[in-house]
Amino acid sequence: MLCRPSHPGNVGAAARAMKTMGLADLRLVAPQRYPAPEAQWMATNAVDVLEAATVHASLADSIKDCVAAFALSARPREWSPQVLDARAVAARAAQFEGEVAFVFGNETAGLTNEEMFACQFLVHIPASPRFSSLNLAQAVQVVAYELFMTGKPSVQGRSEKLATVADLEGLYGHLEQAAVATQFMATGSRLRERWRRLFSRVPGLEREEVNILRGLLRALLGK
Ligand code: SAH
Repeated sequence: MLCRPSHPGNVGAAARAMKTMGLADLRLVAPQRYPAPEAQWMATNAVDVLEAATVHASLADSIKDCVAAFALSARPREWSPQVLDARAVAARAAQFEGEVAFVFGNETAGLTNEEMFACQFLVHIPASPRFSSLNLAQAVQVVAYELFMTGKPSVQGRSEKLATVADLEGLYGHLEQAAVATQFMATGSRLRERWRRLFSRVPGLEREEVNILRGLLRALLGK
């Protein structure tokens, strides 16, 4: 997923980076200028990936069918989901049976906090502390390469049962309702960020498990 990319050349170069590593599902969230000839030029023989790319109005919409989302950030954030480096992330992603998303930010501003918290993991590509911000398509290349080297096995089997991002968002919404209704949620307590972090540490959370928690919250709230 490329969030709000401003330079169409980077979109094309990202498509190329993906195709060289055997990836094909490129999704664009509110691209600033697209389609555009620069994207075609930079994609070269990967125009098929580019042309198959889907465009979404929001990040939430683009990741709703995924079982996990990894946010890529050049900067460490004070309150973030679990942080992994690009190599560790490829191994972690391979553990999921289902579609996983890699979410990249805008060239100038990076990802917003809201976009980052829509994801369960934060990924950093280790680089020079003096200048650690890679070009967008080059960051895509590094992640795609690490995935390729891990040989992420094809997706089969249990993916139906795993909780998707949409299931988790439903749970977070429910937790918030319960926390507000019981006045448990004190302002500034960072509760929202904390439970996102907590659940991002649970590998392979199943839909049924999320439904049990939501059922319990519903019973406690009496609705
Ligand atoms: N100035 C922006 C960087 C934008 S680079 C900022 O400070 O956040 C465009 C995108 O490439 C970033 O949003 C991120 O998704 C990815 N990226 C670039 N360098 C990276 C790094 N060292 N680690 C992880 N992602 C990186």
